[in-house]
Amino acid sequence: MSKISVVKCNDYSKAQDAVERAVELIGGISSFIKPGEKILIKPNLLAPRDPKEAVTTHPEIVRAVIKLVKKAKAIPIVGDSPGGSIRDIKNLWRITGMINVCDDEGAELIQFEAAGAQSIDIGDKNIRKVTFSKAVLDCDGIINIPKLKTHSLMSYTGGIKNFYGCIPGLLKVEYHKYTSKIRDFSTLLANIYKFLEPKIRFSLIDAVIAMDGTGPSGGNIKELDFIAASHDTAALDAYILNALNYNISKYYLFKKLKISKHDVSKFEIAGDNINDLIFSGFEFPRTRILDKLPKSLVIFLGKFLWIQPEINESVCRKCLVCGKSCPVKAIYINKFNFPSVDRSKCISCFCCHEMCPYKAIDFKKSLLAKLFIKDDRKKNTKKMQSN
Ligand code: SF4
Ligand code: SF4
Repeated sequence: MSKISVVKCNDYSKAQDAVERAVELIGGISSFIKPGEKILIKPNLLAPRDPKEAVTTHPEIVRAVIKLVKKAKAIPIVGDSPGGSIRDIKNLWRITGMINVCDDEGAELIQFEAAGAQSIDIGDKNIRKVTFSKAVLDCDGIINIPKLKTHSLMSYTGGIKNFYGCIPGLLKVEYHKYTSKIRDFSTLLANIYKFLEPKIRFSLIDAVIAMDGTGPSGGNIKELDFIAASHDTAALDAYILNALNYNISKYYLFKKLKISKHDVSKFEIAGDNINDLIFSGFEFPRTRILDKLPKSLVIFLGKFLWIQPEINESVCRKCLVCGKSCPVKAIYINKFNFPSVDRSKCISCFCCHEMCPYKAIDFKKSLLAKLFIKDDRKKNTKKMQSN
């Protein structure tokens, strides 16, 4: 049976105790790693953003996990591949607090792109061979420490989605070209997870401050005040999404992994009661609603039913990160010298929205789409139900 621990933590100054307790409740660090092993600690380092912005895993969570790995006499290595076209990794490590933490604790920080790569057939129908950083392939085990956030394409990013960062550099963007449909991208994520599963020792999710709304980089900060851990990353994600009142039976990734709402009630939960920690009004992005409509209806309504990004020129700083993050080169420079989206090319993957550092990309909906999708800015005031 899958065991999940939930531990209240309302301040990152208490992260060490909370992380230790969460890991102890699922069996203790020595049940997951052996002395001398090289353990890759994999935070979410999406972009060079201050930890207070809730875009990346907080450095105090990283510190606590490094200390646990050292306590077990194993060798901690910290690394991730950021999203899109970010090249200055040292700047990202500095802003996200990784350099300070790794210097303090004597852990190696590894750049996935510089570690080399290997392409492997993992049985995905769209990507014949998936390329992984050798930092991932060469370690003895992985401790996955994602951030709890919403995601414009996947609705949610937590444990499983965090493994997408094991693919180095712009290949992550390139794969979106072939997996722009949510079913295809979910299938790829499921295949990556199944391939890495033998190496995954446990996942521990940072939800002390999380993100809702139009995540994973431009949403709202939410203080959820907990961390949660499990050896079973898929169970951890399903449990949290269910607690956030998301209908997980409609979540295609769980269908691929054969996890149903019924399974959630069978997980063994230790520690604090998540229902005491869950809050009202957690909002998911409504960008993928079209994927939930009957396919025949979407085909019938065709070109009248779409959601695509739109650059807000009053906020845009012309940094052009969006253009570099677009897998199909659908962003061009218009006559006013601002980036603009060519709707005929756009595949609605929302990579540009994910990578824009200034929240300058909104979602534009066709008239018909507006009928199906309520305005994102209207707050969902519905009180969360206990699950
Ligand atoms: S939309 Fe965002 S990413 Fe694109 S140029 Fe403007 S600020 Fe930069
Ligand atoms: S413009 Fe369209 S295709 Fe390009 S990154 Fe944005 S959503 Fe994806």
